[in-house]
Amino acid sequence: MKSGEQRLFGLFGDPVGHSLSPYLQNEAFRLLGVDGVYLKFRIKREELATAIAAVRCLNFAGVNITIPHKEKVIPYLDQLAGDAFLTGSVNTVVPEGGKLIGYSTDGEGFLLSLRNEAGVEPAGKRVVILGAGGAARALAFRLVQEEVAALDLVGRDPEKTRRLTAELQEKTGFPASGHTFASPHLPRVAAAADLVINATPLGMAPDLLSKPVFPLAACPGGCLVADLVYNPLETAFLKEADRLGLATLSGLGMLVYQGILACRLWTGRTPPFAPLYRLLKQRLTGEK
Ligand code: NAP
Repeated sequence: MKSGEQRLFGLFGDPVGHSLSPYLQNEAFRLLGVDGVYLKFRIKREELATAIAAVRCLNFAGVNITIPHKEKVIPYLDQLAGDAFLTGSVNTVVPEGGKLIGYSTDGEGFLLSLRNEAGVEPAGKRVVILGAGGAARALAFRLVQEEVAALDLVGRDPEKTRRLTAELQEKTGFPASGHTFASPHLPRVAAAADLVINATPLGMAPDLLSKPVFPLAACPGGCLVADLVYNPLETAFLKEADRLGLATLSGLGMLVYQGILACRLWTGRTPPFAPLYRLLKQRLTGEK
């Protein structure tokens, strides 16, 4: 029996139908003994301001923000912190002392997955990111702060990629290189890579056969290939990497870690990774 005193948490986005976050956060609350409930809300663009006003007046204890609101939410918040400040993208809103503070846990979530699941330390590595959208941006800023040796961004819109490399240079002083998927330099970029990350939606269900056009066959044997897509767990891109004998990392670990970090920001407590990973894997694969 619920007391009616539960703390309210939510996910704001559009669409939110297939989100795994409610399973993740409600299980995290159960494991931590937090008396909270996490619900998903489909919020249209024109309703975002009203939705954030509701966070204030309905006393939400925390909110996640997803596509397409991660940047548009910023004018409605009081302050940005950490990576959200640097990247201009928010995935977690934390009410603190009557203010709404925006955070981004995507970059840190990827780093935790990279370190804890793949055992890879990014410092000194040559990294290639495929895509120039919100996730690519979060990872690029985070990886530069972790002192990677080189960063190559491959995007389909050269202007968008150029803007991101220019912003990285301006805000961090790091000279990332931009390429298109048609660049003749990609085999050279691949041959020098320690880590290749797919940060496009290519390969995401239901388009199981699609994958980014990148010459994985040119990558050295020790290269790790990561995909931010987590549904399916093994994308066509990761299958190709695996066939070539390269190590792979799925996006599910990042999803779990970014949620763990959000939960910690809201509750001050850190839920355990393994049971949350197991739960989401079960939801995705139907396996017990
Ligand atoms: P986004 O902001 O929409 O960016 C997507 C990027 O992929 C853009 O650069 C876009 O190019 C590019 N792209 C889309 N379709 C393409 C195609 N057919 N060929 C080449 N490039 C294409 O999305 P996002 O938030 O960055 O998310 C990207 C992926 O990461 C999604 O699948 C998302 O689910 C996943 N993700 C996973 C996690 C996790 O926790 N595992 C966290 C965040 C995101 P344009 O710029 O030209 O549109």
